[in-house]
Amino acid sequence: MFLPQIRNIGTDRFIGTLSKPYLLTRLQRYRALIAGVYGYREWDGTSQMKPLSTSQKFLLGLGMQSGDNQIAIRQLAELQPQILSLYALIVVNACALAFTHYALAPAWLTLGVPSVLLPLCVARGIQWWRLRPDETSQAEAVRHLRRTSIVTVLLSIGFVSWGLTLDGYGGPYHQAHVVVFIAITVIACIFCLSYLPTAAFLATTVVMGAFIPYYLASGKPVFVAIALNVLFVTIVMVRIIVKSFLSFLELFDSQTETQRLVEENKRLAMTDSLTKLPNRRYFFQNLNCLLESSSNDHREFALAIFDLDRFKPINDSYGHTAGDRVLEEAGRRLRSFANEDVTVARLGGDEFGMLIRRPGTATEILALCDEVCEKLHIPVPLGDTQVIPGCSGGLVLYPTGGRTADELFDRADYALYHSKESRRGSTTIFSQEHEDAIRAERAIESALQSADLASEMEVHFQPILDTAFNTITLVEGLARWTNPTLGRVSPDRFIAAAERCGMIHTLTIVLLRKALADAVRLPPTVGLSFNLSSHDLVSPSTVISIIAAVHQSGFDPRRLTLELTETALMRDFEVAQGSIASLRAMGIKIALDDFGTGYSSLGYVHRLQLDKIKIDRSFLANIDSDVGRNVVITILDLCLNLKLDCIAEGVETKEQLLAVRSHGCRYVQGYLIGKPMSLGALLHELDVRATVRSDQLVA
Ligand code: C2E
Ligand code: CA
Ligand code: CA
Repeated sequence: MFLPQIRNIGTDRFIGTLSKPYLLTRLQRYRALIAGVYGYREWDGTSQMKPLSTSQKFLLGLGMQSGDNQIAIRQLAELQPQILSLYALIVVNACALAFTHYALAPAWLTLGVPSVLLPLCVARGIQWWRLRPDETSQAEAVRHLRRTSIVTVLLSIGFVSWGLTLDGYGGPYHQAHVVVFIAITVIACIFCLSYLPTAAFLATTVVMGAFIPYYLASGKPVFVAIALNVLFVTIVMVRIIVKSFLSFLELFDSQTETQRLVEENKRLAMTDSLTKLPNRRYFFQNLNCLLESSSNDHREFALAIFDLDRFKPINDSYGHTAGDRVLEEAGRRLRSFANEDVTVARLGGDEFGMLIRRPGTATEILALCDEVCEKLHIPVPLGDTQVIPGCSGGLVLYPTGGRTADELFDRADYALYHSKESRRGSTTIFSQEHEDAIRAERAIESALQSADLASEMEVHFQPILDTAFNTITLVEGLARWTNPTLGRVSPDRFIAAAERCGMIHTLTIVLLRKALADAVRLPPTVGLSFNLSSHDLVSPSTVISIIAAVHQSGFDPRRLTLELTETALMRDFEVAQGSIASLRAMGIKIALDDFGTGYSSLGYVHRLQLDKIKIDRSFLANIDSDVGRNVVITILDLCLNLKLDCIAEGVETKEQLLAVRSHGCRYVQGYLIGKPMSLGALLHELDVRATVRSDQLVA
């Protein structure tokens, strides 16, 4: 039940914090009703309800409410049928009275007065009949109720004066008719005006104010008794309608409260609880509405998706509370871009969406998105330290970039993926080039799905040189696919396609089996290094299949290295850690591939049981520059400290070889040492090297 929080702060002044209707004590209720103070306002959540001014009280008395809630409209709707009946009843009663007195009273009384009062009743009746409460505004409804109270007073004065004047004509039957007319009309008034008690009081006061003294003064016991009876009945009636009106107010308010709760629930269902931004559901609802309206009026709009660049490592290194703090801050920063043209929502995880309805050129919208990325590049304080979440975005324009919600979203996501791959920290706009690339990727996916993997796939091997002894101690197995329709497809592309269409596990196992089958033919001093997809380590069934494949091949697991990237660890560090432990328990070595290109988080390197780190070839290409050289030196130092082997990838020139060797890198891989080659070519190459070495030894 609702709790009243009302204080009486003066004779007729009330103050309260109101989120619910307040129920005054019975006495207060009557006082408030009669004084016209009763009314309530919706709680704005902050301020206390202020005492009502005298003019407000007066207006409230006429309209029975404060004008800032929906109740006036409901009152109108409830009153409408009752008032129409009331006017019909008054007209019939008045006509009957005029008729019985027609021969006795002067014409101005039996015809003149009714010809003024009755058209007034009919006109008001028509006004009420034409009223459409649903289409009436709050203010209009309040005005209408006030007008009704005034008209009630005027008509009450008119009819009671008319009736009492007619009382002077005719015999006892005619006088009795007058009494009946006044009594039943006022009772009908009280009933029919039950949803506007002020008007009912006013009518009762006016009529009884004249009726009671008039008949008490007549001295005739019958009339005195009738007057007292009528007075008693009206008092009871008034009590009943006050009670029923208060119940009506209560009911109305509980309905309002229910409605408010429904709305609140709806709002919560559309809000992300952490960032308080609209959520994914709201975003897509908005997108669908926008698509519907834009397809009618050919309006352009843009959809952008943003994804934090370093959320996962922050979450992993600093914990979930810190992660939440970063998301909250990101939400706060993104909210500053929201306005009537821009909707910002949290789509899930560290992904946010933006709908931009503002007309503008692609460059302008792109600039806005880049501004978002820049804003998320500002450090977020976390206790004593601070982190930079960073952010990349993908943008698509309607209608050029797509026409359905799914199409637009997928393309923005595609553009986002490109930002992540090659333009981290900025936004990529979906273009025709991307469209072509998607088509090509789909062709690869469908070719892959119908490919005979066993016959179309093969593994080539690239030698890795141990510079300490100038011998090949390891070869990296690299997948090669020749498709009858597409021809040679690069591994970068088909591995990604296999990951997208869920075929990567099958492909990894096919390739590993082939690589192991070839590797058993290698000299025992040469090991095999094999690449795993980032999806493999987080799939326990794949890990089990890997272990089984190694067992079945007969290849010594201690000669096998599995290369994985940081992306694999990012997917699910805990699971990846478990998989690594199982593989290492068999004697398999683990190498972190492409080091330096991803997050290069020291946290991962420390917490993982690694054996090797491979320096990405992009740093070798830049080894002449200070940055390239420093990165290589730093990674080499790290490996030295952690006692890890380090392999420099992409060594193409003698200068690069000399440079990495001078910084202490023992293992090198690259075109200078040897390109990836078939097993036959590799075995030949190894033979040649062995011969050269033995010749050198003999010499
Ligand atoms: P990665 O693991 O970094 O492999 C090294 C890539 O660098 C190979 O490209 C290799 O041909 C190339 N490379 C080696 N030395 C040099 C050099 O001196 N200069 C230049 N410019 N490039 C050099 P490839 O064979 O095209 O493979 C590309 C990527 O595809 C691999 O990068 C790896 O991520 C993926 N990949 C290849 N085979 C497999 C596989 O069997 N399984 C999985 N999951 N991924 C594979
Ligand atoms: Ca590799
Ligand atoms: Ca690599």
